[in-house]
Amino acid sequence: MSYFSIRAVSKSYDSEKALYPFSLELGKGELLSIVGESGSGKSTLLRIMAGLEVQDEGGVWLKENEILNPKQKLVSGYDEIKLIHQDFHLYPNSTVRENITRPLLKFDAAYRENRVTELMSLLGLEKFADRFPRELSGGQQQKVAIAKAFSVEPDVLLLDEPFSSLDSIQTSRLIAELKELFTQLGTTVVLVTHELDDALKLTDNLLIL
Ligand code: ADP
Ligand code: MG
Repeated sequence: MSYFSIRAVSKSYDSEKALYPFSLELGKGELLSIVGESGSGKSTLLRIMAGLEVQDEGGVWLKENEILNPKQKLVSGYDEIKLIHQDFHLYPNSTVRENITRPLLKFDAAYRENRVTELMSLLGLEKFADRFPRELSGGQQQKVAIAKAFSVEPDVLLLDEPFSSLDSIQTSRLIAELKELFTQLGTTVVLVTHELDDALKLTDNLLIL
């Protein structure tokens, strides 16, 4: 069995088909882009992968453990599988450092401190540590969102059109940095986008939905 397996998941809303049976096998550290036009079911697919949406059929497994959907699990979602959106979901009244620290509150202070410092350094965010999200560019905000997702050391990172609110120069720069980071950390990454160019810049592995 693969590291991350998606087996024939499908989904309809009311009578409308949002996602036809979809299967995928990914190894640890593999990077994959899925390209599809708006409405082709990309976000639905990622939410199912993250255990945040109830599928009609099929299932998702990470390291041979079945990912339970919101009907099967009291608190939806997993630290092991993190989903990032185009709108960054940062806490507006918390600094960069506080934003990245938030998911780590259940860990002890020394670990938290180390981990946050390490992530800010990895993503080049040290000099912004005490700024608020509104004081950052779009690209910098997206990096904070990614650092926040990485704080709990996920095995799988799912990116849902993460560059949509960035300009093309910011996007190119961020993609280059992220590619290096993902490779270095050995994270398994799935990017969904309607931008073929972005997909090709991040991965050699491409799938059309
Ligand atoms: P994409 O991310 O590729 O744009 P989505 O997964 O968001 O596609 O949507 C796929 C289809 O499912 C679309 O036709 C959309 O209108 C429909 N859909 C998505 N979410 C819902 C929902 N919560 N309720 C009803 N229909 C939905
Ligand atoms: Mg979408």
